[in-house]
Amino acid sequence: MTSITSDFVPADLDGARWEDLDPLYKTLRDRELSCSGCLEQLLLDRSVLDATASEAHTNLYVAMTCHTDDKKAKSSYLRFVESVEPHLKQVGFELDRKIVGSPHGADLDTARYEVLLRDLAADVELFRQENIPLQTEDTKLDQQYDETCGAMTVDFDGLERTLPQMAKYLEETDRATRQEAWRGISERRYRDHEKLDTIFDRMIELRTQMARNAGFDDYRDYMFKRYHRFDYTPADCEEFHRAAEQVCVPVLRRLNAERAGTLNVEPLRPWDLAVDPLGREPLRPFDGADDLVARTSRLFHRMDASLGEMFDSLRTGDCLDLESRKAKAPGGYQAHRDRSLKPFIFMNAAGVHRDLDTMVHEAGHAFHSILCHHEPLLHYRHSPIEFAEVASMTMELFGFPYLDEFYDEAEVARAKRKRLEDLATMLPWIATIDAFQHWIYTNPEHSHDERNAYWLGLTKRFGPAVSWDGLEQYHEYSWQRQGHLYGVPFYYIEYGIAQLGALQMWLQYKTDPAGAIANYKNALALGGSRPLPELFAAAGLDFSFGAPTMQRLMDEVQKELDTLPI
Ligand SMILES: [Zn+2]
Repeated sequence: MTSITSDFVPADLDGARWEDLDPLYKTLRDRELSCSGCLEQLLLDRSVLDATASEAHTNLYVAMTCHTDDKKAKSSYLRFVESVEPHLKQVGFELDRKIVGSPHGADLDTARYEVLLRDLAADVELFRQENIPLQTEDTKLDQQYDETCGAMTVDFDGLERTLPQMAKYLEETDRATRQEAWRGISERRYRDHEKLDTIFDRMIELRTQMARNAGFDDYRDYMFKRYHRFDYTPADCEEFHRAAEQVCVPVLRRLNAERAGTLNVEPLRPWDLAVDPLGREPLRPFDGADDLVARTSRLFHRMDASLGEMFDSLRTGDCLDLESRKAKAPGGYQAHRDRSLKPFIFMNAAGVHRDLDTMVHEAGHAFHSILCHHEPLLHYRHSPIEFAEVASMTMELFGFPYLDEFYDEAEVARAKRKRLEDLATMLPWIATIDAFQHWIYTNPEHSHDERNAYWLGLTKRFGPAVSWDGLEQYHEYSWQRQGHLYGVPFYYIEYGIAQLGALQMWLQYKTDPAGAIANYKNALALGGSRPLPELFAAAGLDFSFGAPTMQRLMDEVQKELDTLPI
């Protein structure tokens, strides 16, 4: 891609120590730039140094999440966050400003550098010293939200249980048990609703202030720029909302009616949504992490030989920690070690169907990382979330023909039906959360009553056909369970945009598997080096989220559902 390379950072430099990083960052900051070649070299040298610090951060994070009972792992991670990251932010801004301000930028190859320079210019424009303490307070408030929710427990079935532990009772075939569990969870959440309201009020205040400090009318416009959303606008998001309402909500409500019929309940209630409608036992796709890896490897080899090999490459070199065990953080993620170019997949496999989806999903992220290894610029080895999630969600859909590695025929049909039905719930829910945030931050002076009323209006527009009779107080505060509203404001529509991309990839795959795989790999290999619409175009996808696109995709989903038994 470029002939310039960098030997600026010694291989053994410890990226976890600011004392080691500082002298190198200083020389970058003070380096004289006398031509566009010097600027290009600075970009490469900085890239390796940033990758070294980033890999140190990743390794510390991995160590902590794999062993939450290891005090040293936790303190090493926190030391990095507290004493290295603030320096990195400051010097990062100084370097961005130096690069954006350099007159030699004009002489660089536009096609190669336009995305990088565009992103850095936005970051420099938004940077305000006075916003740093506001950001810190915002982050601390999010920790309070996490702490408040993490401390919630319910006494149920003879034991004190966390809310994640309660989830399985919502799948119980006995309706009275489900109802009691649902009420227990909702009542427990509701007990803290005032506290969570107060936290959210202060967050809205801080965020609106940050936007105004940076010269914006409202936080929505500020965040669109901060997230580098150059290729779509709030109006496009509103088009997505309308499309979800017109196209997906009717499918969702039809599925709700079918479910009510199969369960033989009238009306459907909030505790009737997670249970298998025929009362079957949960799917059990594998037994232990080794079995999961062996079966997933066969799935990818059948999908495509080179994807199979990429997956196998993860089996060596400390790239997987899959099995659930004591003292491991919850959830799943794929992290990339940016200097040594090694992906890492973390999850809590317990042998349920969701684990299989997670494995295939995170493998898609790992393929994305591996396909970008040729790219010298760190900024371009990561793509925008709207496309990164296409890489992962696509693998869940491409995996359909090979689910027989895990299941018999009837179970395959059941797994596919679940995945496709979930789409009809997920796209309207994304619209709900996104529309809520648009309103919140363009009407920051609202009262609690107005906020809850707006929320109820959205659930009427996008929600499932269930009766909330007698549960009104839980309903109007049900937004408080969506942690994204607190921790990562405005981050949610990305999943919707990506899902529409993944569904388009799936349609390609159904008619031309080899062509679809080739498009997938070509687009992933671009990393973040091109604007979002070009990444979609490289994969042969329309970058549009209006009703016509959504209709075309949901018609195919419906067609596939019609071939599958309940
Ligand atoms: Zn993902």
